[in-house]
Amino acid sequence: MNEMNFTVGGAPVDVADRFTVINPSTGDAAGTAPNAGLEELDRAVAAAAAAFPEWAAKSDAERQEACRAVTAKLQENAEELARLITLEQGKPLNGLGSRWEMGGAAAWAGHTAELSLPEKVLQDNDEGRVTLRRKPLGVVGSITPWNFPVMIAVWHILPALRTGNTVVIKPSPLTPLATLRAVEIMNEVLPKGVVTCITSDDRKANIGAAMAAHPEIRKIVFTGSCGTGQKIMATASDTMKRLTLEMGGNDAGIVLPDVDPEAIAEGLFWGAFINNGQTCAAMKRLYVHADVHDAVCEALVAFARNIPVGDGLDETSILGPVQNEAQFDKLSNLVSRAAAKGKVLLGGKPGEGLFFPPTLIAGLDNGDALVDEEQFGPALAIIRCESVEEMLEKANASPYGLGGSVWSSDIPAARELAARMDCGSVWINKHGAIQPNAPFGGVKSSGLGVEFGEEGLAEYTDIQVIFS
Ligand code: NAD
Repeated sequence: MNEMNFTVGGAPVDVADRFTVINPSTGDAAGTAPNAGLEELDRAVAAAAAAFPEWAAKSDAERQEACRAVTAKLQENAEELARLITLEQGKPLNGLGSRWEMGGAAAWAGHTAELSLPEKVLQDNDEGRVTLRRKPLGVVGSITPWNFPVMIAVWHILPALRTGNTVVIKPSPLTPLATLRAVEIMNEVLPKGVVTCITSDDRKANIGAAMAAHPEIRKIVFTGSCGTGQKIMATASDTMKRLTLEMGGNDAGIVLPDVDPEAIAEGLFWGAFINNGQTCAAMKRLYVHADVHDAVCEALVAFARNIPVGDGLDETSILGPVQNEAQFDKLSNLVSRAAAKGKVLLGGKPGEGLFFPPTLIAGLDNGDALVDEEQFGPALAIIRCESVEEMLEKANASPYGLGGSVWSSDIPAARELAARMDCGSVWINKHGAIQPNAPFGGVKSSGLGVEFGEEGLAEYTDIQVIFS
């Protein structure tokens, strides 16, 4: 059993109340975490506020070195963290699972360490010199979901630290263990109070909501559902917090008639089923031109039926269970309604425990719940369309706008179509392939602001202009 704790300002915190974290593969306890309340939150924020002046005053090179040291720590401890992620999140060690997540976490941390936001000279002439500099904000509150517990923590923490802020992070109550351990490891190379992880079951106190309201937190970076993001935005207005909100998506893929169905089947599958579909920018609706519809369905089924699904700790598993019961019930409901109308090509019925087989359902359309809602699980809705314009119109008819993809052998034509999709990222002949040097964020209800690259880094700063 993993009995995790947290420290505040370098001192262990004794929280008598603890909550149990469940391994979704078995239903057994994966470990326990401290069930903190508002008092512990205030202490964590006070420690972060106390650490801020010294951290912000460090030279850019010193902070860069510290972020490199954090990256090295994540690499050194990758296997231990991967096993914790698998235990509490359910994703397999292998495939695009927890070892892959740790590879991503280290890659993002390393890239972020090398980024910088140098002062810009806007004007330097007889009339004067005008310079633009970036100032850290203060204490950043990070609130994370349960699908990529360590990678998303790194996406929030590293750019905040790199730019001179201090951080209080609150992971999902469903997956707190790996984040607690990752922050403990980071603290081996960071000054006291610079990063604190605080955990709660969300029942004793809603720590996330309290962070959004906290007067000493200057920014919230949030990854999670649209409903929660909207609440945070409303609350944060009282203290004029800066916000980065990475919220839900219902990404569409558009398959043009010139594709080779067998050649794209693997990419289509992983675009939709990465992390068992529990990925914000996974493909959740697939619009396929009638000319290739049947062949694409056949190729997808042929690829998907061979994917081993099982306990994440089994080295042969490539997909694991759904992470939690609420998500499982939501998925089961959407799939059973879709199965009643459409044609189930693969899967379609819940398995044992929280296992749900990869499911492909054709014969659906906009207006069907599995098409319109974010299923966030291993089920893909396939919609047959007669024209490219119909596919584009249906893809854009959504309140979400996170990612999208176009599948075609004519890259220039695919790029033109991509530019007409209403979403923050569009991939051609792949889906969801985010990278640390490219800004990522949602339009419409999918969020506010971006992460990654210089644009993402800048979101952890205020602009100050000096006229001399
Ligand atoms: P969620 O919104 O239920 O929870 C996310 C976090 O918010 C948790 O830590 C939770 O404890 C906290 N929280 C709960 N109530 C709160 C409140 N009132 N104020 C502040 N914080 C509160 O989301 P989830 O179910 O953990 O994650 C799944 C969702 O996350 C999906 O919709 C998915 O699309 C989205 N997601 C988005 C991205 C992205 O980058 N856009 C990435 C991953 C996941």
